[in-house]
Amino acid sequence: MLQLRPNCECCNVDLPPDSREAVICSFECTFCRRCADTVLHGICPNCGGELVRRPIRPAAKLERHPASTERVYKPSGCGKLA
Ligand SMILES: [Zn+2]
Ligand SMILES: [Zn+2]
Repeated sequence: MLQLRPNCECCNVDLPPDSREAVICSFECTFCRRCADTVLHGICPNCGGELVRRPIRPAAKLERHPASTERVYKPSGCGKLA
């Protein structure tokens, strides 16, 4: 099952499970669209894979299959901010 992480690894902004601003790679590294577009250019800095929009998990399914609450924050992987 896809891990729905609660934040962007680059800027730590909140990405709730119903956010349409979240993008994710095949290893579930999760970023906001702004970082993906402006800093990462659509490529995951951890694995080099493609970042695509994270699908929304229907609210009814979140009861039994809740989103992850474990924040992953690795700004070092996003060092091209300047
Ligand atoms: Zn971000
Ligand atoms: Zn990745």
